[in-house]
Amino acid sequence: AAKQEGRNRYQFYRRALTDAALERAQLQQLLHQALAGDELRLHYQVKLLAQGGQRPAGAEALLRWFSPSLGTVPPARFIPVAEDCGLITELGQWVLDEACAQMVRWDAQGLSLPHISVNLSVRQLERIDFLQTLTATLARHGLAPERLELEITESIILNAENAVATLANIATLGVRLALDDFGTGYSSLSYLKQMPIQSLKIDRSFVMGIGEQRGDEAIIRTVIALARSLNLHTVAEGVESDPQLEFLREEGCEQVQGYLLGRPQPPEAFLAEWGG
Ligand code: C2E
Ligand code: MG
Ligand code: MG
Ligand code: MG
Repeated sequence: AAKQEGRNRYQFYRRALTDAALERAQLQQLLHQALAGDELRLHYQVKLLAQGGQRPAGAEALLRWFSPSLGTVPPARFIPVAEDCGLITELGQWVLDEACAQMVRWDAQGLSLPHISVNLSVRQLERIDFLQTLTATLARHGLAPERLELEITESIILNAENAVATLANIATLGVRLALDDFGTGYSSLSYLKQMPIQSLKIDRSFVMGIGEQRGDEAIIRTVIALARSLNLHTVAEGVESDPQLEFLREEGCEQVQGYLLGRPQPPEAFLAEWGG
Protein backbone atom coordinates (compact mmCIF):
# COMPACT_ATOMS: atom_id res chain seq x y z
CA ALA A 1 0.00 0.00 0.00
CA ALA A 2 2.83 2.33 0.91
CA LYS A 3 4.47 1.55 -2.39
CA GLN A 4 1.27 2.25 -4.27
CA GLU A 5 0.85 5.51 -2.45
CA GLY A 6 4.37 6.61 -3.30
CA ARG A 7 3.70 5.73 -6.89
CA ASN A 8 0.53 7.80 -6.97
CA ARG A 9 2.31 10.71 -5.45
CA TYR A 10 5.06 10.45 -8.04
CA GLN A 11 2.49 10.39 -10.82
CA PHE A 12 0.82 13.39 -9.28
CA TYR A 13 4.02 15.44 -9.12
CA ARG A 14 5.00 14.42 -12.62
CA ARG A 15 1.61 15.48 -13.96
CA ALA A 16 1.77 18.78 -12.11
CA LEU A 17 5.27 19.48 -13.39
CA THR A 18 4.31 18.69 -16.95
CA ASP A 19 1.22 20.87 -16.76
CA ALA A 20 3.24 23.76 -15.39
CA ALA A 21 5.90 23.38 -18.08
CA LEU A 22 3.25 23.12 -20.76
CA GLU A 23 1.49 26.18 -19.48
CA ARG A 24 4.71 28.16 -19.51
CA ALA A 25 5.54 27.07 -23.03
CA GLN A 26 2.05 27.96 -24.17
CA LEU A 27 2.16 31.34 -22.44
CA GLN A 28 5.52 32.08 -24.03
CA GLN A 29 4.23 31.36 -27.47
CA LEU A 30 1.07 33.38 -26.94
CA LEU A 31 3.08 36.27 -25.53
CA HIS A 32 5.14 36.36 -28.72
CA GLN A 33 1.91 36.70 -30.66
CA ALA A 34 0.63 39.33 -28.25
CA LEU A 35 3.70 41.48 -28.90
CA ALA A 36 3.38 41.08 -32.64
CA GLY A 37 -0.37 41.68 -32.61
CA ASP A 38 -2.65 44.13 -30.88
CA GLU A 39 -3.36 42.38 -27.58
CA LEU A 40 -1.50 44.57 -25.11
CA ARG A 41 -2.77 47.73 -23.46
CA LEU A 42 -1.70 50.00 -20.66
CA HIS A 43 -4.12 51.00 -17.96
CA TYR A 44 -3.38 53.93 -15.67
CA GLN A 45 -3.98 54.27 -11.95
CA VAL A 46 -4.02 57.72 -10.40
CA LYS A 47 -1.76 58.83 -7.54
CA LEU A 48 -3.22 61.59 -5.38
CA LEU A 49 -1.91 63.77 -2.59
CA ALA A 50 -3.09 62.33 0.73
CA GLN A 51 -3.99 65.83 1.94
CA GLY A 52 -6.46 66.20 -0.91
CA GLY A 53 -6.61 68.33 -4.04
CA GLN A 54 -8.14 67.56 -7.40
CA ARG A 55 -5.05 67.38 -9.54
CA PRO A 56 -3.39 63.98 -9.93
CA ALA A 57 0.11 63.79 -8.48
CA GLY A 58 0.90 61.18 -11.11
CA ALA A 59 -0.22 57.89 -12.58
CA GLU A 60 1.16 54.36 -12.73
CA ALA A 61 1.07 52.44 -16.00
CA LEU A 62 -0.05 48.82 -15.55
CA LEU A 63 0.20 46.28 -18.33
CA ARG A 64 -2.93 44.48 -19.51
CA TRP A 65 -3.06 41.48 -21.83
CA PHE A 66 -6.17 40.21 -23.50
CA SER A 67 -5.40 36.96 -25.28
CA PRO A 68 -8.01 35.81 -27.82
CA SER A 69 -7.52 32.21 -26.65
CA LEU A 70 -6.95 32.66 -22.89
CA GLY A 71 -8.93 35.80 -22.18
CA THR A 72 -7.53 38.33 -19.72
CA VAL A 73 -4.22 37.18 -18.26
CA PRO A 74 -3.02 39.05 -15.14
CA PRO A 75 0.55 40.44 -15.09
CA ALA A 76 1.36 38.33 -12.02
CA ARG A 77 0.98 35.30 -14.32
CA PHE A 78 2.72 36.44 -17.48
CA ILE A 79 5.47 38.81 -16.27
CA PRO A 80 7.45 35.99 -14.55
CA VAL A 81 7.17 33.90 -17.73
CA ALA A 82 8.37 36.83 -19.85
CA GLU A 83 11.28 37.30 -17.44
CA ASP A 84 12.29 33.65 -17.69
CA CYS A 85 12.23 33.45 -21.47
CA GLY A 86 13.79 36.84 -22.13
CA LEU A 87 10.69 38.37 -23.70
CA ILE A 88 10.58 40.92 -20.88
CA THR A 89 13.09 43.16 -22.68
CA GLU A 90 10.78 43.59 -25.65
CA LEU A 91 7.68 43.70 -23.47
CA GLY A 92 9.23 46.28 -21.15
CA GLN A 93 10.31 48.40 -24.09
CA TRP A 94 6.76 48.31 -25.47
CA VAL A 95 5.48 49.53 -22.10
CA LEU A 96 8.05 52.31 -21.90
CA ASP A 97 7.28 53.50 -25.42
CA GLU A 98 3.54 53.41 -24.91
CA ALA A 99 3.68 55.23 -21.56
CA CYS A 100 5.88 58.01 -23.00
CA ALA A 101 3.61 58.34 -26.04
CA GLN A 102 0.57 58.56 -23.75
CA MET A 103 2.11 61.36 -21.69
CA VAL A 104 2.72 63.37 -24.84
CA ARG A 105 -0.86 62.71 -26.05
CA TRP A 106 -2.30 63.76 -22.67
CA ASP A 107 -0.20 66.92 -22.71
CA ALA A 108 -1.77 67.80 -26.05
CA GLN A 109 -5.23 67.02 -24.64
CA GLY A 110 -4.73 69.34 -21.68
CA LEU A 111 -4.00 66.72 -19.03
CA SER A 112 -0.51 67.47 -17.83
CA LEU A 113 0.63 64.99 -15.21
CA PRO A 114 3.82 65.76 -13.25
CA HIS A 115 5.06 62.29 -14.10
CA ILE A 116 4.18 58.82 -15.30
CA SER A 117 5.39 55.74 -13.40
CA VAL A 118 6.43 52.59 -15.22
CA ASN A 119 7.26 49.27 -13.56
CA LEU A 120 10.70 47.96 -14.42
CA SER A 121 11.87 44.36 -14.24
CA VAL A 122 15.34 43.51 -12.91
CA ARG A 123 15.97 41.73 -16.19
CA GLN A 124 15.57 44.99 -18.12
CA LEU A 125 18.00 46.80 -15.89
CA GLU A 126 20.61 44.09 -16.40
CA ARG A 127 20.94 44.85 -20.08
CA ILE A 128 24.09 46.79 -20.79
CA ASP A 129 22.25 48.86 -23.40
CA PHE A 130 19.41 49.82 -21.05
CA LEU A 131 20.61 53.36 -20.40
CA GLN A 132 21.14 54.02 -24.09
CA THR A 133 17.69 52.64 -24.95
CA LEU A 134 16.07 54.69 -22.22
CA THR A 135 17.73 57.90 -23.43
CA ALA A 136 16.72 57.17 -27.01
CA THR A 137 13.13 56.44 -26.00
CA LEU A 138 12.74 59.73 -24.14
CA ALA A 139 14.28 61.65 -27.04
CA ARG A 140 12.10 59.91 -29.61
CA HIS A 141 8.95 60.97 -27.76
CA GLY A 142 10.26 64.37 -26.72
CA LEU A 143 9.47 63.65 -23.07
CA ALA A 144 11.56 65.36 -20.40
CA PRO A 145 13.37 62.73 -18.27
CA GLU A 146 11.96 64.28 -15.09
CA ARG A 147 8.48 63.27 -16.20
CA LEU A 148 9.28 59.59 -16.18
CA GLU A 149 9.51 57.54 -13.01
CA LEU A 150 10.69 53.94 -12.93
CA GLU A 151 9.33 51.69 -10.19
CA ILE A 152 11.85 49.07 -9.14
CA THR A 153 11.74 46.49 -6.37
CA GLU A 154 14.27 45.72 -3.68
CA SER A 155 15.18 42.48 -5.46
CA ILE A 156 17.19 44.61 -7.90
CA ILE A 157 19.90 44.99 -5.31
CA LEU A 158 20.29 41.24 -4.90
CA ASN A 159 19.83 40.22 -8.50
CA ALA A 160 21.26 42.82 -10.82
CA GLU A 161 24.99 43.19 -11.03
CA ASN A 162 26.15 46.78 -10.64
CA ALA A 163 22.59 47.71 -9.78
CA VAL A 164 23.55 50.74 -7.74
CA ALA A 165 25.81 52.06 -10.52
CA THR A 166 23.13 51.57 -13.16
CA LEU A 167 20.53 53.26 -10.99
CA ALA A 168 22.91 56.17 -10.44
CA ASN A 169 23.25 56.58 -14.21
CA ILE A 170 19.49 56.56 -14.64
CA ALA A 171 19.15 59.17 -11.91
CA THR A 172 21.81 61.32 -13.58
CA LEU A 173 19.63 61.42 -16.68
CA GLY A 174 16.96 63.02 -14.53
CA VAL A 175 14.61 60.03 -14.56
CA ARG A 176 12.98 59.47 -11.16
CA LEU A 177 13.20 56.19 -9.28
CA ALA A 178 10.73 54.73 -6.79
CA LEU A 179 11.15 51.64 -4.64
CA ASP A 180 7.99 49.56 -5.13
CA ASP A 181 6.46 47.11 -2.61
CA PHE A 182 8.75 48.53 0.03
CA GLY A 183 9.12 46.41 3.14
CA THR A 184 8.46 43.07 1.48
CA GLY A 185 11.98 42.43 0.16
CA TYR A 186 15.35 41.99 1.77
CA SER A 187 17.20 45.20 1.12
CA SER A 188 19.17 46.47 4.06
CA LEU A 189 19.01 50.04 5.22
CA SER A 190 22.60 50.62 4.15
CA TYR A 191 21.62 49.84 0.56
CA LEU A 192 18.67 52.15 0.82
CA LYS A 193 21.02 54.96 1.74
CA GLN A 194 23.07 54.33 -1.40
CA MET A 195 20.16 54.15 -3.78
CA PRO A 196 19.45 57.28 -5.83
CA ILE A 197 15.69 56.98 -5.36
CA GLN A 198 13.11 59.72 -4.76
CA SER A 199 10.18 57.71 -3.37
CA LEU A 200 9.23 54.72 -1.27
CA LYS A 201 6.02 52.89 -2.05
CA ILE A 202 4.51 51.32 1.05
CA ASP A 203 3.30 47.86 0.09
CA ARG A 204 -0.40 47.06 0.04
CA SER A 205 0.06 44.23 2.53
CA PHE A 206 0.81 46.80 5.27
CA VAL A 207 -2.02 49.11 4.22
CA MET A 208 -4.40 46.15 4.51
CA GLY A 209 -3.48 45.83 8.18
CA ILE A 210 -4.52 49.38 9.09
CA GLY A 211 -7.12 49.20 11.85
CA GLU A 212 -6.49 45.48 12.25
CA GLN A 213 -2.81 44.79 12.89
CA ARG A 214 -0.88 47.01 15.24
CA GLY A 215 2.30 45.64 13.69
CA ASP A 216 1.39 46.85 10.21
CA GLU A 217 0.53 50.29 11.55
CA ALA A 218 3.87 50.43 13.35
CA ILE A 219 5.70 49.46 10.16
CA ILE A 220 3.91 52.17 8.18
CA ARG A 221 4.81 54.82 10.77
CA THR A 222 8.41 53.66 10.71
CA VAL A 223 8.64 53.72 6.92
CA ILE A 224 7.19 57.25 6.82
CA ALA A 225 9.70 58.40 9.45
CA LEU A 226 12.54 56.71 7.58
CA ALA A 227 11.50 58.29 4.29
CA ARG A 228 11.30 61.69 5.92
CA SER A 229 14.78 61.45 7.38
CA LEU A 230 16.21 60.27 4.06
CA ASN A 231 14.32 63.02 2.21
CA LEU A 232 12.18 60.61 0.22
CA HIS A 233 8.56 60.88 -0.86
CA THR A 234 6.08 58.30 0.37
CA VAL A 235 3.30 56.65 -1.61
CA ALA A 236 0.90 54.15 -0.06
CA GLU A 237 -0.43 51.46 -2.42
CA GLY A 238 -3.68 49.55 -2.27
CA VAL A 239 -5.75 52.08 -0.32
CA GLU A 240 -9.28 50.69 -0.33
CA SER A 241 -11.10 52.32 2.58
CA ASP A 242 -11.68 55.69 4.24
CA PRO A 243 -10.18 54.60 7.58
CA GLN A 244 -7.00 53.54 5.76
CA LEU A 245 -6.83 56.90 3.98
CA GLU A 246 -7.46 58.73 7.25
CA PHE A 247 -4.66 56.87 9.01
CA LEU A 248 -2.19 57.54 6.21
CA ARG A 249 -3.11 61.20 6.10
CA GLU A 250 -2.68 61.58 9.85
CA GLU A 251 0.65 59.81 9.82
CA GLY A 252 1.94 62.14 7.11
CA CYS A 253 2.09 59.81 4.11
CA GLU A 254 2.34 62.13 1.08
CA GLN A 255 0.61 60.27 -1.72
CA VAL A 256 -2.01 57.58 -1.96
CA GLN A 257 -3.02 55.11 -4.61
CA GLY A 258 -5.70 52.43 -4.54
CA TYR A 259 -9.19 51.41 -5.53
CA LEU A 260 -10.68 54.00 -3.14
CA LEU A 261 -9.05 56.80 -5.14
CA GLY A 262 -9.24 55.20 -8.57
CA ARG A 263 -8.88 51.84 -10.30
CA PRO A 264 -6.46 51.31 -13.16
CA GLN A 265 -8.32 52.55 -16.26
CA PRO A 266 -7.81 52.90 -20.02
CA PRO A 267 -6.28 56.23 -21.13
CA GLU A 268 -9.56 57.65 -22.49
CA ALA A 269 -11.34 57.01 -19.18
CA PHE A 270 -8.41 58.41 -17.25
CA LEU A 271 -8.53 61.60 -19.34
CA ALA A 272 -12.29 61.92 -18.87
CA GLU A 273 -11.99 61.60 -15.11
CA TRP A 274 -8.81 63.55 -14.39
CA GLY A 275 -8.38 65.89 -17.35
CA GLY A 276 -9.77 69.37 -17.98
P1 C2E B 1 2.64 46.78 -8.54
O1 C2E B 1 3.56 47.57 -9.39
O2 C2E B 1 2.89 46.77 -7.09
O3 C2E B 1 1.19 47.34 -8.88
C1 C2E B 1 0.13 47.39 -7.97
C2 C2E B 1 -0.90 46.30 -8.22
O4 C2E B 1 -1.94 46.41 -7.27
C3 C2E B 1 -1.58 46.37 -9.58
O5 C2E B 1 -1.93 45.03 -9.95
C4 C2E B 1 -2.84 47.17 -9.27
O6 C2E B 1 -3.89 46.96 -10.21
C5 C2E B 1 -3.19 46.61 -7.92
N1 C2E B 1 -3.95 47.53 -7.09
C6 C2E B 1 -3.94 48.88 -7.08
N2 C2E B 1 -4.76 49.39 -6.13
C7 C2E B 1 -5.31 48.32 -5.51
C8 C2E B 1 -6.25 48.18 -4.43
O7 C2E B 1 -6.74 49.14 -3.85
N3 C2E B 1 -6.57 46.91 -4.06
C9 C2E B 1 -6.05 45.81 -4.69
N4 C2E B 1 -6.44 44.60 -4.28
N5 C2E B 1 -5.16 45.90 -5.69
C10 C2E B 1 -4.79 47.15 -6.10
P2 C2E B 1 -1.67 44.47 -11.41
O8 C2E B 1 -1.99 45.51 -12.44
O9 C2E B 1 -2.32 43.14 -11.50
O10 C2E B 1 -0.08 44.28 -11.43
C11 C2E B 1 0.55 43.39 -10.57
C12 C2E B 1 2.05 43.53 -10.65
O11 C2E B 1 2.52 43.18 -11.95
C13 C2E B 1 2.54 44.95 -10.42
O12 C2E B 1 2.60 45.24 -9.03
C14 C2E B 1 3.90 44.89 -11.08
O13 C2E B 1 4.84 44.30 -10.21
C15 C2E B 1 3.66 43.94 -12.23
N6 C2E B 1 3.45 44.74 -13.46
C16 C2E B 1 2.34 45.32 -13.95
N7 C2E B 1 2.60 45.98 -15.11
C17 C2E B 1 3.93 45.80 -15.35
C18 C2E B 1 4.83 46.24 -16.40
O14 C2E B 1 4.46 46.98 -17.32
N8 C2E B 1 6.13 45.83 -16.29
C19 C2E B 1 6.58 45.04 -15.26
N9 C2E B 1 7.88 44.69 -15.24
N10 C2E B 1 5.77 44.64 -14.26
C20 C2E B 1 4.46 45.01 -14.31
MG1 MG C 1 4.32 49.43 -9.26
MG1 MG D 1 3.66 47.95 -5.81
MG1 MG E 1 2.53 45.61 -4.54
